[in-house]
Amino acid sequence: MSGDFEMTKDEWYQQLFERLGNSRFRSRFHLKQTEIDYIHEKGLDTIREHARDLIARREAPAVIPNDGRQTPMRGHPVFIAQHATATCCRGCIRKWHKIPEDRELSPIQQAYLVDVIMIWIEKELKNA
Ligand SMILES: [Zn+2]
Repeated sequence: MSGDFEMTKDEWYQQLFERLGNSRFRSRFHLKQTEIDYIHEKGLDTIREHARDLIARREAPAVIPNDGRQTPMRGHPVFIAQHATATCCRGCIRKWHKIPEDRELSPIQQAYLVDVIMIWIEKELKNA
């Protein structure tokens, strides 16, 4: 999350979601009713736990042999959120979130990615 100039956290999130909204590829991802039902059934705290776990296992390691293919396009609302927020692989995380590849993600970086995912999910629920 280091840029050429200092940005507040709010400014960063605002411009990130603006950029994602302007991306034809990212903005076509939306939660379907079955995924919304699943979130309501499990609760947002549990979904956040799932997001933490998925980021820790599939994104955090320094070396990911199948990077770019570790996040399915369906099956869990967090997967959809990951494609929508460019937290789906280390290549996208580098490009969109300015976090270098080939290095284990710190707990702070992992928490940031989980936050991005959960903000997107909450926005989707509001617009559903
Ligand atoms: Zn990706």
